[in-house]
Amino acid sequence: MIPVIALVGRPNVGKSTLFNRLTRTRDALVADFPGLTRDRKYGKAMLGEHEFIVIDTGGIDGTEEGVETKMAEQSLAAIEEADVVLFMVDGRVGLTPADQEIAQHIRTREKTSFLVVNKVDGMDPDTAASDFWQLGMDNMYQIAAAHGRGVSTLINRALMPFAEQAKEDQEAGLVDLTGEDDIEPVDETTMTEEEAENEYARLQAQPIKIGIIGRPNVGKSTLTNRMLGEERVVVYDMPGTTRDSIYIPMERDGREYVMIDTAGVRRRKRVTDKVEKFSVIQTLKAIEDANVVLLVIDARENISDQDLSLLGFALNAGRSIVLAVNKWDGLDSEVKERVKSELDRRLGFVDFARVHFISALHGTGVGHLFESIQEAYESATKRVGTSMLTRIMKMAQDDHQPPMIRGRRVKLKYAHAGGYNPPIVVIHGNLVNELPDSYKRYLMNYYRRTLDIMGTPIKIQFQNSE
Ligand code: GDP
Ligand code: GDP
Repeated sequence: MIPVIALVGRPNVGKSTLFNRLTRTRDALVADFPGLTRDRKYGKAMLGEHEFIVIDTGGIDGTEEGVETKMAEQSLAAIEEADVVLFMVDGRVGLTPADQEIAQHIRTREKTSFLVVNKVDGMDPDTAASDFWQLGMDNMYQIAAAHGRGVSTLINRALMPFAEQAKEDQEAGLVDLTGEDDIEPVDETTMTEEEAENEYARLQAQPIKIGIIGRPNVGKSTLTNRMLGEERVVVYDMPGTTRDSIYIPMERDGREYVMIDTAGVRRRKRVTDKVEKFSVIQTLKAIEDANVVLLVIDARENISDQDLSLLGFALNAGRSIVLAVNKWDGLDSEVKERVKSELDRRLGFVDFARVHFISALHGTGVGHLFESIQEAYESATKRVGTSMLTRIMKMAQDDHQPPMIRGRRVKLKYAHAGGYNPPIVVIHGNLVNELPDSYKRYLMNYYRRTLDIMGTPIKIQFQNSE
């Protein structure tokens, strides 16, 4: 399971700077869902091969009355959701009473936490640290978030319990402890053909994991219950904390599925209260863990930025997507038309995803969801051999030559599969790393059309060979 790191500290210590550096601001999800405090930002980050989720808690205004209440409002929630807390302080300003209060608060939570002294650029390390020893936190790290200094060391350390590899790297001296390191965006590593084969076999043997996600009240629980329907439900007793989804195995037409229930259907039956209605972390984790994401949208609400953020997250994670526009019952045709054009306008970029207009309440259209889920999964795990992938690549190249780069013609040589769910096509050739995104998109669409791939993003990776 993907680890979660929360950034906590008073305003101006550099939390957003660190957040942006870690996530490269791609797909930050702002949690302004109803019932949630504003200004908690969620982003996915990657260090080496290790993925993690970062939460930026925004400012706890320490100068205000009662840091406690402020903490309770948003950082507390973030701390609860996190596996690791990075408590940030400002090395230039030194220790403040607000820092002390926050430290006190963190101490009462039983969470792995690190004291992060930021802005140490141009400072003497001893001076920067001296004030903060009295906080009595033994995990002290010095960084300059603005310059990336010390950041990867810190994150590697924070992720260590979650990544055996990180530990080995450090033992092998691969992690720079001098504090002069920087975080650079890393391209996902490509699988070899053999690894891709193994991945394929693994995916064939497992049930399809469906992550049912969406904003609060769109009808996820109602839909989950519908989908489970009369089919035999094997009750799966899992002690869930609020941030964990419940996994419900089911079978339909001889195919096995696991529903990842972010709405707390099962849990709600037993424990009626105390269930947080919506958790971003839970949703993000469900996306990570699913093969196919079923995004539920409420036809009676406008498509919101949160819907788009959730979709963006699912796409970035490479997940297959099926869209369910729920509460389609009892709408007059004018409203239906308006919803449809709104969908076209705002969700045009996922035109490869099937859209279903359903009523979870009445069950209308629910059965057909499984067809699209299967189709999406099959597309995502479709095995296409090297010769076929290369042939399609050549056809694409013949139809539309790659542009010249510095007076040289880019030549695509061959292609092979580099992974599934999402399908990854690895293209070898000269100067391919310098191909513009537009050509990459062209190739992606060409593969999509030719192989009839629905419901899943496709990734193209390039490998230079002269
Ligand atoms: P937040 O309120 O905790 O999210 O803090 P910000 O990330 O907005 O940073 C507050 C200020 O500190 C900004 O002006 C940053 O440019 C600055 N800052 C952040 N990190 C560093 C650093 O490593 N060194 C220096 N010198 N300034 C920094
Ligand atoms: P969740 O928070 O996403 O799990 O949403 P729920 O399943 O709890 O549903 C929220 C509300 O929407 C409830 O009052 C449901 O009865 C209602 N609802 C769910 N699906 C439908 C539907 O298809 N049509 C109508 N009209 N109402 C629905």
